[in-house]
Order: sequence, then structure tokens, then C-alpha cells
Amino acid sequence: MSNAIRNVLVINAGSSSLKFMLFDMKTERMLAKGQVERIGIGGSLFTFSTEGFSEKQSPCEAPDHAAAIQLACGALTDPTKGGCLKSFSDIDAVGHRIVHGGERYSQPVLLTPEALAEIAKLSPLAPLHNPGALQGIKGCEQVLPGVPHVGIFDTAFHQTMPEESYLYSVPRELHERLGVRKYGFHGTSHKFVTLRTAELLNKPLDELNIISCHLGNGSSITAVKGGKCFDTSMGMTPLAGVTMGTRSGDIDPAVVLYLLKNGYSADDVDRLLNKQSGMMALAGSSDMRDVCAACDEGKPAALLGLARLIHSYAMYIGGYAALLGHVDALILTGGIGENSWETRKALLTSLSGLGITLDEEANRTCRGVERVISGKDSAIPAIIVPTNEELMIARETFALVCD
Ligand code: ADP
Repeated sequence: MSNAIRNVLVINAGSSSLKFMLFDMKTERMLAKGQVERIGIGGSLFTFSTEGFSEKQSPCEAPDHAAAIQLACGALTDPTKGGCLKSFSDIDAVGHRIVHGGERYSQPVLLTPEALAEIAKLSPLAPLHNPGALQGIKGCEQVLPGVPHVGIFDTAFHQTMPEESYLYSVPRELHERLGVRKYGFHGTSHKFVTLRTAELLNKPLDELNIISCHLGNGSSITAVKGGKCFDTSMGMTPLAGVTMGTRSGDIDPAVVLYLLKNGYSADDVDRLLNKQSGMMALAGSSDMRDVCAACDEGKPAALLGLARLIHSYAMYIGGYAALLGHVDALILTGGIGENSWETRKALLTSLSGLGITLDEEANRTCRGVERVISGKDSAIPAIIVPTNEELMIARETFALVCD
């Protein structure tokens, strides 16, 4: 380990928000975290906490991302707020989460002016995400000049997919000219749990076949073959795949054409499928705590919503089990995977055809910790592996700058 590099700041910036976490990479301890919301739109809010200090949201001035970073670094160096750094120069490297790396980025990259220009070119593929990340990077470079800034892409882990996984069955020129293909998302999370699962099973990474289920508001399921992504449920955008909190997941693409011909605008359809669909549409809430409570009361809409959700998960898991042939483990992570024992129970019960069984007690009592929740007789172990995307970003940043 390099002695010179120790503190890595992880930034996850959107167009009007910026989340940050500071890690000590000698111990991999998270030293502080916080966020600035409503950047550039007035009424900005700042939240900051460390192990010994927790601040509620407070109003702040954040006209742009540079101001937001200045606030973050100010708190990190303010002992009265629990800040543990003496000065800004104690931040040795910054890792930036970037949603879309297109086909160009399969690895973390040092954010040179050339890399930033490339990332800007990818913005049409992620118009809601990449521009915000770029604003965050530029703001951060103003406040922390001379510090290495590294880009970590949500799509990178999925760049190992073979053509038969990522190509849609459409004319090739759509891929070549417009980049129409499957990219996949949540890659940092799938990579984190894949590496952790190799450790837990004590198996060489290149011999590991798993099905990784990142189930949260946004959800994706990934088939990992020989430690690498082989296929994943999200597509060119994070709208595809399983049923999600407010996103539809897979639907017949002709539905979109049908709606457009029946008076809906493109923006209407966008809103409908991204914000008003999924569990929100079926069960009346995108939060699985509400849905599971309503299921307990026997509410028909919630029961149907849960059934549809599990059906969509099981279709991907079953398909990936067939594609992989041999599966070493089924991994559950994300807010739902780590915490919603009712959803996990329904899922594992639905997978009995794959020989998967459930350890009821282990499952019911598990919240957010690593645990095997399948029975001893299960054909495939089902394991909860809490994800830590920020730590993964910090590790990859550290690895790149120490190289
Ligand atoms: P995001 O995709 O926004 O990162 P998360 O991974 O935080 O989402 O997951 C959010 C989902 O996790 C919500 O559906 C929420 O209901 C569920 N969830 C979080 N905590 C719990 C809990 N204790 N019990 C059941 N479900 C939970």
C-alpha cells in the first residue's frame, strides 16, 4: 500500500444533488458522509455525519456543485462538526460515480480533460445522469485542484457480456451508429458482491458462477460466469428488466408505439414507465415495507403486486440458471434483498423448481448482514451479501492512483 495515499473521497453527483463519503483506505473505515440537496435551485439543504457527530438537515447556500463540494470539504475539516481532516490537502484522491461509460469504459479511468470530453459525448445515453456527474467532477476539480480524480462507471462491470447477451435483435446499424445495445447498470454493486462471494465461498473468482440480485427501488439481476458479467437484466437504460419500485421493467416495445398513437407524448410515456409504473402502479406504493404490510392485511392489489414482482425476478433467475448451467450461489443485495424478509421468502419459495429451499428462521431474522438463508438441502445456496458501492468506488480509486 502506498503511504502517500490514504483518504479517498467518494462523490455521487446528480444535477441537483451531491452525496459524499470519506474513507480511510488504510482501514477501509468510512470516516464521514453527507449530502447537499437542491443545488442551484434555491432552498439548498446540507446533511453531514461522522461516527461521533450527526447533523440533521440544515439550510445552506449551494448555487452550484463547486459550492456544494466546498461545504462538504468545510465540514470534513471542521472539528466542531466532527470533521477529522486538518485541511483540504488531506484528501488524497476523489472517486466519482458515473452512470454511463458506454462501450468505452470497462475500467476506472483518471479523469483527464480527454476523458471528460468522452464522458460528455456519452450524455445522450444517460441524459438524466451523466451531465450531473460532470457538473460534480468540474466543481470538485475547482475546490480540490491537483488531486487525482477517478471515474467509476455503473456500466463497466457489464462490458464483459458477449454479443449474444448485449445485442438486441434489431438491425446492426442501430448499434453501430446510435449505440443501441444492452449496457447494464448497478455494475459497481454486482462487482462488489461478486468479489465478496468469491471470498465467502473460498473459490477462485474465475471459477465462480453466481446470480446476483440487486433489489432496491431500481433492481437488476446479473448472471456472473467465471467471475465476469455474462448477462444482466437492465438494458440500454435502467428501465428494462424486472419490475421495480416505479419502473415498469420489461414490456412489449409496441406498447410505447400504441400509446404514442393514442395521444400520449414521448414525455408522458417516459414519466409513465419510469415514475408511475412498477410496484407503485400495481400495489399503490413503491416501498416494499408498505407493500408487505398490505399483503399481511390481505389487500388484493398488494398481493398481486408482490406476485408480479416475484414472477419477474424468477423469470430472470431461472433463465440465468439455464444459461450458466452450474450456479455456485444466488446472491441477494440492495434495500429489498438485504432487508425485506417477506420478499425474500416469496422469492425463494418460488424457486423450488431449481431445488432452492429456504431456512425460514435464518431468513426472517436477517436484516442487512451477510447470511446464508437457504436450507442445508438447497441445490444452490442463497446468500445475503450487503452491498457497498461507495467502498467499491473508494477501492477502485485507490487501486488506480496507487498503481
Ligand atoms: P435505491 O435503488 O434507491 O438505492 P434501495 O436499495 O435503498 O433503493 O432500496 C429501497 C427499497 O428497499 C424500498 O422498496 C424499501 O422498501 C426497501 N427496504 C429498505 N429497508 C427495508 C426494510 N427494513 N424492510 C423492508 N424493505 C426495506
